[in-house]
Amino acid sequence: MDAGVDVIVCGSGAAGLFAALRASDLGLRVLVIEKTSRYGGTSATSGGGVWIPNHGGGSHADSREAALQYLDYVSDDGRLEKLQAYVDAGPEALKYANSLGVGFESAPGFPDYYSGAPGATTERSLFPMEMDGADLGEEFYRLRDAPSAFKLFNKYALNLEQSFALSARPFGWQWVAAKVIANYWMDLSWRRKTSTDRRLTQGRALVGRLRKAMLERRICLRLNTGVTKLLERKGQVCGVEVEAMGQRSQIEAHSAVALATGGFEQSQVLRDKYMPVPTNSAWSLTPKAANAGDALLAGLEIGADTEFLEHAWWAPSMRLPSRSIPNVDETHPMFFDYYHPHSLCVNRLGRRFVNESCPYDQFGQAMISDHKKTGSNVPCWLIFDSNFRKKYACGAILPSFVMSDDSLPLEWWDSYIFRGRSIEELAGKIRVDRDQLSKTVTMFNEHATSGNDPDFGRGTNGFDVHFGDPEVKPNPCLGRVSDAPFYAVQIDLGDLGTKGGLKTDRHARVLSKDGIAIEGLYAVGNCSGSPFGNCYPGGGGTLGPAIVFSYLAANHIAERARLNR
Ligand SMILES: Cc1cc2nc3c(=O)[nH]c(=O)nc-3n(C[C@H](O)[C@H](O)[C@H](O)COP(=O)(O)OP(=O)(O)OC[C@H]3O[C@@H](n4cnc5c(N)ncnc54)[C@H](O)[C@@H]3O)c2cc1C
Repeated sequence: MDAGVDVIVCGSGAAGLFAALRASDLGLRVLVIEKTSRYGGTSATSGGGVWIPNHGGGSHADSREAALQYLDYVSDDGRLEKLQAYVDAGPEALKYANSLGVGFESAPGFPDYYSGAPGATTERSLFPMEMDGADLGEEFYRLRDAPSAFKLFNKYALNLEQSFALSARPFGWQWVAAKVIANYWMDLSWRRKTSTDRRLTQGRALVGRLRKAMLERRICLRLNTGVTKLLERKGQVCGVEVEAMGQRSQIEAHSAVALATGGFEQSQVLRDKYMPVPTNSAWSLTPKAANAGDALLAGLEIGADTEFLEHAWWAPSMRLPSRSIPNVDETHPMFFDYYHPHSLCVNRLGRRFVNESCPYDQFGQAMISDHKKTGSNVPCWLIFDSNFRKKYACGAILPSFVMSDDSLPLEWWDSYIFRGRSIEELAGKIRVDRDQLSKTVTMFNEHATSGNDPDFGRGTNGFDVHFGDPEVKPNPCLGRVSDAPFYAVQIDLGDLGTKGGLKTDRHARVLSKDGIAIEGLYAVGNCSGSPFGNCYPGGGGTLGPAIVFSYLAANHIAERARLNR
């Protein structure tokens, strides 16, 4: 067996790196192992937002009581001890993140995802400040890349503000685009080295800063090294078996093993076993072949309990052929696309089933419940007209003034994007009942004209309105679908990761089936059950708990090590 360290952290996403840093700062010797050849996990490909209630920054008015009232209302199955631990430790963990050099800023007016619920407010979601990738030295090249959705023309890095400016196109948006492109090309010395933008934004900024703090502390990171098994001695977890370059070996952990290997969304076998409706790992927006539930399986093998395995952080997605890799379909997020005006979503019977302006996780949940009722959702359809096509992006299909219909590859038509001169023609192409779809669209248009959506209340709450189009009146979320040609795009039940996993307590200790903490074993991030159960309280609702419970886990490991000395 390898001589070992105090703490082995498995997984190099935000949860793993945060736990490693905190444990190291509390005096423990730490090793991080990462299965793939890149560090950062899904966290590096994400928006990097964290949802931290009562953080005390900016114009934000909040309180512990309001946050708990909100969480109590929106998360039916979250356990109070974990919700309280989360709300109480959030501001402290954030302060610690700042001390590591990870700065966050709030997005003005960004609402909670159940904006009408008691205790809801705005600006609990915080987003990481940009970072200069050059500060990472060679480690810049090993950082997982951002998805094309977070880059202009799949090249120029965008921060959140720039992403929104290019999607909503307020006055002066052209300058935003011009500046982003000019900065990239004027960076001549960097251009000679790589075509990758040195500006780290969103999730790459979060992970980049954590990695930089690790380099400063000389915390060891071993890539291409995956945990395969947990080792036990006298009823306590004392190390891991790993696989690296096809070879198995063992590493000893004197204090603890912290599992942070993400969810199981990339394992079709585990999806088929646990998800409530048939799903496909190809729909997931997380890095391919990375998070396959290894920690879950290793934990189950030693008697760990689990929770919420049937849930994921849903985010509708669509697929398009890659324009750079032959014969490969890419999965694109639809975060802000299905709720633009001049569009509606229908199941395969041609009926609406949801307020299309709701947050992505709620949209996914609506797909599931409609599928359970009708058997005709998952996938469903986004239907839009030429007004939408002119103005808004749809996945990787940019508005027609940037990407005209003529410029789309011929083979995409009638496979990935469908077009009809009438709703009836479109219905025929996507094999949805013509009469039902045209009835649904006629009814929808009547509601759009009056600005009321009696069926689903689209555009009646703070969240809908915040992301609506103020130019569309009387309801910024409802625009008629009336101007030919008409289009349809298939929406899959995508996800940002699964949210069920090993059951943990408020210190992130893994619990056994009889409810007792397994000595020396901690689980954080998506390989543990979400503290919120089946709910996504706000933007950053997955990375928020990932860093807060990593912080709590490291504190507990250090305290236990101190007592055992
Ligand atoms: C496009 C997109 C945008 C998103 N935006 C946000 C956002 O703004 N805010 C938010 O809260 N959430 C967001 N999410 C979700 C969020 O990114 C994830 O929920 C979060 O990153 C999970 O963090 P983690 O550390 O648990 O897992 P990950 O970041 O996925 O890290 C897990 C790591 O473990 C490694 N690993 C897997 N198996 C093993 C093994 N056997 N041994 C060792 N290592 C292993 C993986 O390779 C990976 O590097 C977004 C997701 C996507 C896809």
